[in-house]
Amino acid sequence: MSAREYDAIVVGASFAGLGVARQLRGDVLLLDGNEVGSVQTSACGTPLWVPQTLGVAGSVLQVHERLTVRTPGRSVTYDLSAVPFCTFDYKAFCQGLLAQCRARFLRTRVIGVEEGAVLTAEGRFSAPVVVDCSGWRRAVVNGGQPERPRGGTYSFGLEARADLTGEGLSFWLDKGLIHRGLGWIFPAGAQSLVGLGSYVGASKLKPALDRFLSDRGIAATSFHGTYFPNRLLRPTVGRLFAVGDAAGQCMPLTAEGIRPALYFGGECGKIVQEVIEGRTSLGDGLERYRRLVGRYRRAYRILWWAQLFAMHAPTRWFAAFTSLAARHPVLPRWWPRYASFGRMDPSSVASAT
Ligand SMILES: Cc1cc2nc3c(=O)[nH]c(=O)nc-3n(C[C@H](O)[C@H](O)[C@H](O)COP(=O)(O)OP(=O)(O)OC[C@H]3O[C@@H](n4cnc5c(N)ncnc54)[C@H](O)[C@@H]3O)c2cc1C
Repeated sequence: MSAREYDAIVVGASFAGLGVARQLRGDVLLLDGNEVGSVQTSACGTPLWVPQTLGVAGSVLQVHERLTVRTPGRSVTYDLSAVPFCTFDYKAFCQGLLAQCRARFLRTRVIGVEEGAVLTAEGRFSAPVVVDCSGWRRAVVNGGQPERPRGGTYSFGLEARADLTGEGLSFWLDKGLIHRGLGWIFPAGAQSLVGLGSYVGASKLKPALDRFLSDRGIAATSFHGTYFPNRLLRPTVGRLFAVGDAAGQCMPLTAEGIRPALYFGGECGKIVQEVIEGRTSLGDGLERYRRLVGRYRRAYRILWWAQLFAMHAPTRWFAAFTSLAARHPVLPRWWPRYASFGRMDPSSVASAT
């Protein structure tokens, strides 16, 4: 069967895929197995500037200027007001970004990759440029075969949605609750997302999450969970670009993957647009994207070491560390810097909208 030809194909229409696609002009195909914004897998917490800069501020459900880290011995509250955090509505956020894309969206799953074409239930599609934004499953990079999550590279998170208000944004570090992982409550307007994450990719978290909820008298209305990477993977594989969780860009320790997916997605999208316009060759584009991601390897390594510390150090050491990190003048030195990573250039955002 002959393949329908596009200028570029983006597989996955969540944070990474939409970050790429909104930069693209030309005959572009955006594929996802689900409707855009219909399958939420995360707590949707990110710095407030992210939805604001991307023109989807209407998706914000709640703004957070405080974060409390709780350990069995003590609680430490961080003042985030220098760069406030927020929780947002996944569907509104993604559909807002989709409205900024000129790509053709097609709801279909990629089931294989063959001679430069992606195979789907809707047929074969080919393009000189293919970007894998399919999340941890890495559907394209793996030739349509789902990734087998390996401990040490993949974490696992399980979340409950609950009609809970009045709690602040908080993380729990308590080995009695979860070994080598953390718990969280992310308030999001009329509801909260209450979750547990295992840094070692343990996926049977339901009994522990049920205990976490029942100890606090919280009734869950639904559950969702999945894997996410905690190590950078290859950003290019052969002629393919990979962005977001497909390239292991979710940050270790904090499990923040939305910002990197959008940031690297935007930067990858700009390079791909140059390739489409013939201003850059595909080979040079791949090399530039590899170099860009490579510039962040050191920062990811530091977070990886911090994650190892959280996993293996006695909890009281980590509590002492979090307490120090919350104090003046330490906090103003790292929080604005960390929380501004990936800050999008407003001029490029304006050109994309
Ligand atoms: C429980 C939990 C809570 C989290 N909370 C946060 C948080 O609060 N803040 C934060 O920054 N990060 C959070 N993360 C991490 C964050 O969710 C991910 O890093 C982020 O979603 C990565 O975005 P992505 O676009 O790369 O991949 P995804 O969001 O996973 O999107 C991949 C897309 O590809 C599609 N797809 C997959 N396979 C195929 C296929 N074969 N064919 C077609 N389409 C396909 C999927 O349908 C999906 O739409 C959390 C993760 C978990 C598990």
